[in-house]
Amino acid sequence: MTALEQEISRIIRFEGPISLERFMGLALGHPKHGYYMTRDPFGAQGDFVTAPEISQMFGELIGLWAAEIWAAMGRPSRVILVELGPGRGTLMADALRALRAAPSFLSAIEVHMVEMSPVLSELQRQSLERSSVPVFWHKQLNDVPEGPTILLANEFFDALPVRQYVNTQRGWCERLVGLDEQGQLMFGVSSTAESTLKVAAPLGEILEIGAQGQLMMREIGQRLQRQHGAALIVDYGYAETALGETFQALKNHEFVHPLSSVGEADLTVHVDFSALMRAANSVRLNVFGPVYQGEFLLALGIEQRAEALKRRATEAQIAEIDAATLRLTDESSQNMGHLFKVLAVTSPDLKQIPGFPQEFA
Ligand code: SAH
Repeated sequence: MTALEQEISRIIRFEGPISLERFMGLALGHPKHGYYMTRDPFGAQGDFVTAPEISQMFGELIGLWAAEIWAAMGRPSRVILVELGPGRGTLMADALRALRAAPSFLSAIEVHMVEMSPVLSELQRQSLERSSVPVFWHKQLNDVPEGPTILLANEFFDALPVRQYVNTQRGWCERLVGLDEQGQLMFGVSSTAESTLKVAAPLGEILEIGAQGQLMMREIGQRLQRQHGAALIVDYGYAETALGETFQALKNHEFVHPLSSVGEADLTVHVDFSALMRAANSVRLNVFGPVYQGEFLLALGIEQRAEALKRRATEAQIAEIDAATLRLTDESSQNMGHLFKVLAVTSPDLKQIPGFPQEFA
């Protein structure tokens, strides 16, 4: 039993079975033993690889995207560049390096990293050490100062805890984590049904609700209403709300049972983009997308960027650049370019933004 399993078992013995949301929050964010709080999970040696870790082009293109947003915002002399869940800080480091080509934007930027993990905050500090831009760290978005804002979030929303409900004879009952007779963690359901849930579905079906993600989206939306600006959300997920569960655990690049290796496996869900869009719409913003990540990166010019890099590269590097471009953009199902989607929300004054086909009147 891991130290965190013991801790969670203690909580359950004391308080009774806990919600999946609470379990996921503890597994990822427990101050002492939470998955993100104790380690660097990225890369070949870690548990999973994210787009900025696959290629510098990802962060570079997003940096240049932000520069165009700033220009469309009327070039404010101070702009808050927020990143939610910056991991190793690779995306921001690549973005700021690419932005040396846009010095007037660079001199307007204040970077605000929102990160709960002290281990990852330290890695981010190291990644951004050589940047001339002021950088600040916060545990939550609420603590980021006011001002015209450009916000970035890659693979952040998939780490936000969800609740699950199971359709039983009694109605939709919340899925809970409790203890079996041997004291091992097990899934169960609450004895009372959630009377407000009226969705028709076969018995045994699961409904996943990402209330924390929706709240976060509303908070972003309210900020963009007070201050103008834009938010770019990249994650794996589905465009239409659907039944079924997506909760999964990943350790050393392999799926494991989510109640095993607690605190040592990454727990994620697929993001319900339409729920995020509804949350953004409730505060009247312009919503762009979601589009496939592949489409978005191609529209931003990933192929031209790859060509430019290849001109100064060795044979081996050329092969790497080609493989990374394909990995990030290939839209055949199960690949990143298809699985990953990009959503942008902006204040009403931004009618057209790079990477998205639609326009607002
Ligand atoms: N964006 C990075 C890392 C993605 S992993 C990349 O693409 O490589 C998720 C990141 O979000 C980690 O940095 C994790 O510590 C952070 N995180 C997860 N939940 C969080 C929360 N509730 N508040 C702040 N940061 C969180």
